Amino acid sequence: MIEIRLLTFHYPGTQPLFADFSLTINRGEAWTIIGPSGCGKTTLLYMLAGLRAPAQGGIYIDGEVVTRPRPATGLVLQDHGLLPWETVWDNARLGLKIRAFYGPDGTHSPADMIRDPEGDDQRVRHWLRWLGIDGCAAMYPGQLSRGQRQRAAIARTLALEPDFLLMDEPFSALDAPIRAELQNVMHGFHLESGLTSVTVTHDIEEALILGEKILVLDTNTNSVPRVVNNELGNAEERRLHPEFGTARKRLQELLGQPARSMGT
Ligand code: ADP
Ligand code: MG
Repeated sequence: MIEIRLLTFHYPGTQPLFADFSLTINRGEAWTIIGPSGCGKTTLLYMLAGLRAPAQGGIYIDGEVVTRPRPATGLVLQDHGLLPWETVWDNARLGLKIRAFYGPDGTHSPADMIRDPEGDDQRVRHWLRWLGIDGCAAMYPGQLSRGQRQRAAIARTLALEPDFLLMDEPFSALDAPIRAELQNVMHGFHLESGLTSVTVTHDIEEALILGEKILVLDTNTNSVPRVVNNELGNAEERRLHPEFGTARKRLQELLGQPARSMGT
């Protein structure tokens, strides 16, 4: 269970993004965070990742306060963070290599650490195949499409077998059809794995496709969380759900945006 308890955060000289903000994320839930640009989505994700510290309050994962990045939390960023001089295979293996250096508890090379290079290879192979890029293993990021690069970044994170997955606008740089495909891949992944996840997005449809719970943030200081339960259920293709348009409209209203044409 992930608990955000009475969290307060502000950047110097600005109004607080969060004040006494509390929220509970249960194990196995897929959350999305949506809100206008600058409302604090990335900041909240970074606090969940242990990369930023709140001024007051705290984040507790399974009862332990987060004070720094946690090895079991996986993070996928918008710009992939792939090393251009390494192949897809080595990039996907990078997290495991770093973990072998630091150890599962983040301590530098503990003497009693169990290394399992064959298991690591298997995990990397599994996720490359699962994400449909096993054919690209020997290629370099520069030879891949954006969608394939993002798949490689996801493979790298999933190979670490995280118990909590954080993604910051992972698909926003992708063209619409590729984005829709990867949204389906990640939704399918959630249905299959039940991994607890939080995905930041500014895209209403993405929020509905990936989130069973949707946290709607505001540009004013966030204190009382606005949480929308996704009523589209766990259909494999939420986009095709008869209520999709209605759910999208409701979320749009909550975000204070004029409803777009209801075409597709
Ligand atoms: P979002 O991801 O929702 O677009 P962010 O969490 O990135 O928003 O940023 C929230 C607000 O905090 C924005 O107004 C942004 O300009 C500001 N901000 C972000 N990072 C910093 C920083 N390092 N120092 C000062 N202000 C920042
Ligand atoms: Mg952001």
